[in-house]
Amino acid sequence: MHTPSTSEHARGTRLSAGRRRRLGVILAGLALAATAVAYSADDASAAKACKPGARNVIVMISDGMGYNQMLAGDYFQYGATGEQTYQQFPVRTAMSTYSVYGSYDPLAAWGLFDYAKNAPTDSASAATAMSTGVKNQDGVIGIDVNGKPLYHVAQRAEVLKKSTGVVTSVEWSHATPAGFVAHNASRNNYAAIANEMINDSGTDVIMGAGSPLFDDHGTPLATPTQYKYVGGVETWNALVNGTAGGDADGDGDPDPWKLIQSKLQFKRLACAKKTPARVCGTARSATTLQQSRGGNAMAAPYTVPMNANVPDLATMTKGALNVLDANRKGFLLMVEGGAVDWAGHANQPGRTIEEQVDFNEAVEAVCRWVRRNSSWDETLVIVTGDHETGYLWGPGSGADATGKGTWLPLVNNGEDAVPAMQFNSGDHTNSLIPLFAKGDGARQLRAAARKVDPVRGKYLDNTAIAETIFSVMR
Ligand SMILES: [Zn+2]
Repeated sequence: MHTPSTSEHARGTRLSAGRRRRLGVILAGLALAATAVAYSADDASAAKACKPGARNVIVMISDGMGYNQMLAGDYFQYGATGEQTYQQFPVRTAMSTYSVYGSYDPLAAWGLFDYAKNAPTDSASAATAMSTGVKNQDGVIGIDVNGKPLYHVAQRAEVLKKSTGVVTSVEWSHATPAGFVAHNASRNNYAAIANEMINDSGTDVIMGAGSPLFDDHGTPLATPTQYKYVGGVETWNALVNGTAGGDADGDGDPDPWKLIQSKLQFKRLACAKKTPARVCGTARSATTLQQSRGGNAMAAPYTVPMNANVPDLATMTKGALNVLDANRKGFLLMVEGGAVDWAGHANQPGRTIEEQVDFNEAVEAVCRWVRRNSSWDETLVIVTGDHETGYLWGPGSGADATGKGTWLPLVNNGEDAVPAMQFNSGDHTNSLIPLFAKGDGARQLRAAARKVDPVRGKYLDNTAIAETIFSVMR
């Protein structure tokens, strides 16, 4: 297998970005026309059908992505914004993300600079809201404020005999994938969450990092000690032996997981003719695929050698789609770019961009899959975040003596360059974040965006994602 060196990786990234930009320039007018055509085709088919419907639902979440994390990735990849396929989806709106005891006041948010730093959501409650339609407390996975287990859209998909999956670039038992599958009083109970996902859920694809056998740089550990992200040593051994897994389809027989770990196995799964019924992909890294690797974490994107023995999020996503699309009744898939958030907490410009670009490429892979293997009449794709992390704005942004805010834009330094930008927090914020959707059910999301923000325009709440999926998935 050819493993590109870091310099090759960097060059490859630049070349492909350049190619895409040139293509983008050539096709700019055409793309506008194509968007208009897709838009009216959507409306026409919607008018024909009594109700919108989606056989397949794919939710793409860049954890920690606000408008400016997205913009930073856009400027680095293309030297411009609006070039991502999802940025031309017919539904483009904003989303509020606060958890059960929170709120969002648009006028206060654009009055006082520090408003956004108060009472932001965490990833557990955000994922629970998007997966169940019910807001709960931070840190809690799939359980409401009264301690009642909540019903995930994935559970509804399983009732409809669909396949389900979760994919992430961080540990696969981390808050966002857990928030679409599991029920637990604390997101920190990784082993219990992992065991629910592996042994009790009907999920068919689980992928991410969290390997007990490797460190964050993808180096094998002499003596592995950390098995919690994969459910403990017993569950891990059962995964390795091919005996882990409960009765996912309810026919009375166990449905064991196929464990894959090597980069080659992920690549092969992405293009295999025949796929296993259930796949647990545990990539060879401890916490993240790339973000937590060594080297200067403040360096420009791709200048520190990438972990070479793990797949990227796009390859994982293609493998997941290849497994799930074997089910003729359709599927529900959640894909998380998990580490824009981690780079935001650490105020790392370069790694924020690396992680956002990795997420963008996974979305492009999903859009290609829809065009080649499905259609926008039967597949709904939602692209969003779960909350903003780092309060990222342009240089010079901040509060004056009275607390009044000035929000300055990121400064575009062109393709392959880090834009000038400034983190104003090491934590999550209550800022509105972007949401894009396409597919027959997408118009329901547009209808849900009823509130208006003076800067971001119309916005919906994160609970509208689950409400829409429950309503249109069939
Ligand atoms: Zn976070």
